[in-house]
Amino acid sequence: VSNNLAADTETIVCDFCGGKDSTVFFVENGCNLTRCGNCGLLYVNPRPLSSQGFAKYSHEYTDYVEKYIQNKPIYQAEAKRRMEEVDSWASGGKLLDIGCADGTFLELAREHGWETTGVEPDEALARHAIDKSHLNVRICDFLDSRFEGETFHAVTASNIICHVRWPDRFFRETARILKKGGRLFLDTGNGAEIFARKEAEIWGEHWGTPDHLFHFSEDLLHRYMERNGLVVEKSDRIPLFSMLFSKDNLRLFKGSKLKSALKSALLAVPPLRLLIVTLFNLYYVRLKKSNVCKLRIVARKA
Ligand SMILES: [Zn+2]
Repeated sequence: VSNNLAADTETIVCDFCGGKDSTVFFVENGCNLTRCGNCGLLYVNPRPLSSQGFAKYSHEYTDYVEKYIQNKPIYQAEAKRRMEEVDSWASGGKLLDIGCADGTFLELAREHGWETTGVEPDEALARHAIDKSHLNVRICDFLDSRFEGETFHAVTASNIICHVRWPDRFFRETARILKKGGRLFLDTGNGAEIFARKEAEIWGEHWGTPDHLFHFSEDLLHRYMERNGLVVEKSDRIPLFSMLFSKDNLRLFKGSKLKSALKSALLAVPPLRLLIVTLFNLYYVRLKKSNVCKLRIVARKA
């Protein structure tokens, strides 16, 4: 961690409730992840002043773009699941993907008949989407993107909200650019529901501080949406181990001979996979009282 970090930081109040009373929950990469004493939001405080370049303080950032492209199959699997959801709303229309990265999801949405636009602040990733996939992408922060009001039928934001500097403004802006009846798809972890040290350690390095500036609970996300005119229609909790043992994740897994054999067996015998996932979930959810999961929420503009 750079010694300059302290000099280039700002101290903020809670983005959700304006509270000033927060306590340190976790320290990672020299930054405090604090919990609001009033509403429970987890946020980095103090935090790096600018979103430009702060990610370099996170060790995960090394060769980020290269890694992103390498991991493309993971994002393609995620894109497929997201597409199924979005296609269930309408067959085409104007779609915006916030934080579209290299355009993996937008490419798929275009194939499915959607008129696609993306926003991506990382220039290298955005260039990839524009030059290689000929997608329509604005290279900027979503909060500076200034789309016309009531433009989109669908807005998606996968694993984005943790990085956003002002979540409340994010939801207000999303509601503004959605057409009446248009929908938002958002997914993220449930960090703010993690209270026990043990559970926090399941995530361990994955807090991604300070690259991830906020962690939410399901309830807080609903309240953020509702107070900005987005009505929650659907809210799913996907347990950690269901994700780890999903078919797509298993296919990508590379490991020792023994683990590879186990992987092949799990893929070949679906009931075996179901049994393993159930056992793991029972172990962690019932015995270890872990509720680490992924939140997947759909909200409609009122
Ligand atoms: Zn708060």
